[in-house]
Amino acid sequence: MARVHPDIYFFGGGTAEGRADMRDLLGGKGANLAEMASLKLPVPPGFTISTRVCNYFYDHGHKYPKALDTAAAKSVARVEKILGRKFGDAKNPLLVSVRSGARVSMPGMMDTVLNLGLTDETVKGLEAVSGNARFAWDSYRRFCQMYGDVVLKLKPENKNDRDPFEELIERKKIHRGVKEDVELSVDDLRELVSEFRDLIRSRVGRDLPQDPEKQLWEAIGAVFDSWNNDRAIAYRKFNNIPGDWGTAVTVQSMVFGNLGADCATGVAFTRNPSTGARGIYGEFLPNAQGEDVVAGIRTPLQISLAAGREWAERNSVVEAERVARFPTLEESFPLVYKELLKIAQRLEKHFRDMQDMEFTIERGRLFMLQTRTGKRTAEAAVRTAVEMVGERLLDRRAALMRVEPVQLEQLLHPRLDPAAAKEVIARGLPASPGAVSGEVVFSADEATVVQAAGRKVILVRHETSPEDIHGMQVAEGILTARGGMTSHAAVVARGMGKCCVAGCSALEIDYAGGALKVGDRVIRRGEYITLDGSTGEVIAGRVPTVQPEMSDFFVKFMHWADQERKLGVRANADTPSDARLAREYGAEGIGLCRTEHMFFGPDRIDAMREMIMAEDKQQRARALDKIVPMQRADFVGILREMAGLPVTIRLLDPPLHEFLPKEDEEIRKLAENIGTTPERLRQIRDSLEEFNPMLGHRGARLGVSYPEIYRAQARAILEAATALRAEGVRAIPEIMLPLIGERKEFEVLAADIRDVAREVASRDGGKLQYHIGTMIEVPRACIEAGEIAAVADFFSFGTNDLTQMTYGLSRDDSARFLDDYISRGIYKKDPFQELDPEGVGGLMRIAIERGRKAKKNLSIGICGEHGGDPASVKLCHKLGLDYVSCSPFRLPVARLAAAQAAIEGRKSKREFKDV
Ligand code: ADP
Ligand code: MG
Ligand code: MG
Repeated sequence: MARVHPDIYFFGGGTAEGRADMRDLLGGKGANLAEMASLKLPVPPGFTISTRVCNYFYDHGHKYPKALDTAAAKSVARVEKILGRKFGDAKNPLLVSVRSGARVSMPGMMDTVLNLGLTDETVKGLEAVSGNARFAWDSYRRFCQMYGDVVLKLKPENKNDRDPFEELIERKKIHRGVKEDVELSVDDLRELVSEFRDLIRSRVGRDLPQDPEKQLWEAIGAVFDSWNNDRAIAYRKFNNIPGDWGTAVTVQSMVFGNLGADCATGVAFTRNPSTGARGIYGEFLPNAQGEDVVAGIRTPLQISLAAGREWAERNSVVEAERVARFPTLEESFPLVYKELLKIAQRLEKHFRDMQDMEFTIERGRLFMLQTRTGKRTAEAAVRTAVEMVGERLLDRRAALMRVEPVQLEQLLHPRLDPAAAKEVIARGLPASPGAVSGEVVFSADEATVVQAAGRKVILVRHETSPEDIHGMQVAEGILTARGGMTSHAAVVARGMGKCCVAGCSALEIDYAGGALKVGDRVIRRGEYITLDGSTGEVIAGRVPTVQPEMSDFFVKFMHWADQERKLGVRANADTPSDARLAREYGAEGIGLCRTEHMFFGPDRIDAMREMIMAEDKQQRARALDKIVPMQRADFVGILREMAGLPVTIRLLDPPLHEFLPKEDEEIRKLAENIGTTPERLRQIRDSLEEFNPMLGHRGARLGVSYPEIYRAQARAILEAATALRAEGVRAIPEIMLPLIGERKEFEVLAADIRDVAREVASRDGGKLQYHIGTMIEVPRACIEAGEIAAVADFFSFGTNDLTQMTYGLSRDDSARFLDDYISRGIYKKDPFQELDPEGVGGLMRIAIERGRKAKKNLSIGICGEHGGDPASVKLCHKLGLDYVSCSPFRLPVARLAAAQAAIEGRKSKREFKDV
């Protein structure tokens, strides 16, 4: 049959005008309904109006394109012919649903109206043909309710109100002394319809339209409108979905799951979406309509017998009771169950992916109403990908492309026990994953005290600063009220692999009173809370967690990834235990070992401060003599864990005043310890104050002004390496100078280090194996890369600083205005989260080109936040870096992203050739 209109796509009767790959035009729902109809699956006939009409509708003051109405009428007629019912017919009425559907699934964000076409007249016809008055009036009742809500916008008047229709139903049930909707009689339903209409008349000022044609067009308009409801807009913003995509509208003939006990409605996944286990998994409700399953009106039943038994066990329901009260679809509809299984397998084969399906059973007949790619946990994603290779649905590369790299991070942290109850009191940003419980404390010092007493703590702050590091180190997790995904708390926590919920703005924190408040809920110092860093949930009390284990599926999957990737993967690790973890998660070395964190420990900080406060070289040397043995021990530990693999150690980087005490009491104590006066200490501290510390006396500049500091650190590293070599452990230290911007600067500092190396070698004997390289993190270093590479052994891009300096944008101050740049479309992404491919990437390209030209086998890597971000990893692959380095917990993310980059590169090369 010829198309009736360029923007209408018919489906049903074994054919369809649309296809699965037309989701841009038909929305995911419409496209897949068409595909299922073409596969001759039982899909109720209907038609989809394209997303183009949605945009037309918005651009033309809520009008429709020419001739759409007559074309739609023809399409309705085609449905009528297939079904032998007529829209608006008083004897045998055709009812339809009007469904929304965008290009990507936006679950529950937009609206749908069911049972459209019912009027005072047609309801009688429905009653007569179905021979079921209860069904007819139940459907009419539902229609009034949905139409009132979606089209006439009759919503609760304020937040604390209930849905006005539900309230009337509730009242009716109480009046009749019944619990469930299904127990209401035909007369009750009739009364409800008239009460609903009274409500509509009094609140909206007009009646429910009695003309089906008018109902249809008003509903279509309302569904288009729902593209721009607040929920949908917020969802799009959060998920980066463009506002101009629009929604399609599908008008589809109704099938009824509410016609009696031989009817039902449900949702099913082709595999278990939380574990990935094979076999159909889902829920259904007998004698109900679609939205009842999600609405949680009744307890839904399980589809398969196996899942039903598991459910019963979890809920302490004995088998006899389960069979009587909670029978599965497999038991109560055995034939439909078999057919559903067959269809599920067929759809999986067809789409080569796990499907999430909606279905309805009308008088024992199965109808498919929707199918889409099923959302799944990381665990399920990995298992499904691996098993689908075994089933020959996918090849390995396709399987690797199926898993979102960021999802993998979930697998390595403990998780909240999904079966446990929880009271969520607030939600912040999921800044660093993991699930932890502990006592609330409000300062870093308090954290160390409580933790030292053997108790677990959650550090709660408005925001954190470098002074809080010692508290963050001992805390189970960190919760802040301010700051974004790249705030200090978020960045440091991710680096430490520690759970963090940041920017939880609903929190009112009272440091003095030792309490946090969310609305009326008060939680005091010492009370337990639980954080879920993967969802941002803040939960009252203690919630049990489950330990992750690396499943065989995960191990196999990561092995495939490693075979594909070209990029090396290293970890950022500052301690032996981090190093061990890093190795376990697949690190091929350490790309960044920061030495400053080593100085924040309670036993170290004093020696460090003494060194900083030294009045002269001798005093400084004396303080350094205390520090060197401690550092040497740190390096022995780390180099031992990484035996045989390179370990890049960055010499001291932050400005010295970050280490100094701020409180009077601490200053007094320190003065006493090092034999000076608090006044003198304050003087020195003030002299170290800087206007712009980020661009101040830090990095290599410290080494230039105080050569003894870098020399001491180099000595600690090289002595550690020699000691290990004597034991037969292969230590490969790479000494890295931060913030270099000039060849001479590097040469001067490197000469100092070589000098120390000669000393160590001549004293301890033997040959030392070590490298000296530099971070590339100031733009000048990129431009001068040729010169610098001539004298440096390796480069490591420090893209946090490089981004700050390329944009002239302070990361720690950008939170205030970066959102404006993103919401006004000036920047697409926060450049501290995702490496800027043009600007920063452009400088990197120059540095790589010039560096490699000067030194062919120059090793080049990247360390810092971007090394664990999938898009940034992909950019690094394209730029031809040797490795990326990221926090241990992000290693699987980086490994998979690197594999995907290699696979994508292969593909685009091939496509290129084809052209
Ligand atoms: P959502 O996107 O919110 O899931 P849907 O358009 O899928 O909205 O519809 C909501 C519910 O109504 C679903 O359970 C769906 O299966 C059911 N439904 C939609 N159209 C029909 C129909 N023609 N017959 C029976 N049930 C339907
Ligand atoms: Mg749906
Ligand atoms: Mg830096």
